[in-house]
Amino acid sequence: MAPNLYAGLVVILGTDDSVPRKLLKGLRSLLYPPHCGSCGCSLAEYDPEQTLCEPCLAKIFPPPGEICKVCSHPMRGLLLCPNCEGRLWHLTVIVTGCRYEGLARELIQRFKYGRDQSLMRPLGDLMMPALRDPRLAGKEFDAIVPVPLHPVREREREFNQAALLSLRLAQHLNLPVMHLLKRNRGTLPQAGFDRTRRLRNLEGAFELTGGFDGEIRLLLVDDVTTTGTTLNSCASVLMQAGADEVCAVTVARG
Ligand SMILES: [Zn+2]
Ligand SMILES: [Zn+2]
Repeated sequence: MAPNLYAGLVVILGTDDSVPRKLLKGLRSLLYPPHCGSCGCSLAEYDPEQTLCEPCLAKIFPPPGEICKVCSHPMRGLLLCPNCEGRLWHLTVIVTGCRYEGLARELIQRFKYGRDQSLMRPLGDLMMPALRDPRLAGKEFDAIVPVPLHPVREREREFNQAALLSLRLAQHLNLPVMHLLKRNRGTLPQAGFDRTRRLRNLEGAFELTGGFDGEIRLLLVDDVTTTGTTLNSCASVLMQAGADEVCAVTVARG
């Protein structure tokens, strides 16, 4: 069946969540069999919602069992890691889908620097297990907020990776994406800075772009976090603007 015939069926049957929609989904997977977002193998034998094959998923490492209760830093026997002791957090918790190593690291680099936007689906999906983290139990969100890129960087890359990941998450969670923040100025990469320099580097870096009604619970999204300083700076702006609560999710933790 030609793709334009498929498009015609979309027009005739509509795209609401009903029997025709299920029929269209079936037709789509017949016409365009799903492939693993990493290695390209056929996913025909897997769950239709799966975007990576099992051998590729086996190369992605889940977060360690014992982690800091706020920033998810790996550690043993304490509630807060040394990075969080005495720190003023503006967000409740940062949850992450996996460790920033192995295939996850490779895919994130292909996504950002290789500009492979198709990876928004498998990488977005890697965040879903993180949302079942017990630290988020009972929490509900009103909107998803991507961490912004500086406009110059976004022009160079042609997209903001956090915004694409937010779109994927929004499909799963049925939540709106709100672009509430902008990056005021270029910042140096945070990696390699100590805590004081990280904070100074991000001072005043983010600004609110739009208003919102108070008592809103927001889920911040980024691709990778290390110490959580960027996420905390974004959360600070959102909380000052009247948000009720901010939590954050990233694909991976470095
Ligand atoms: Zn694969
Ligand atoms: Zn911590």
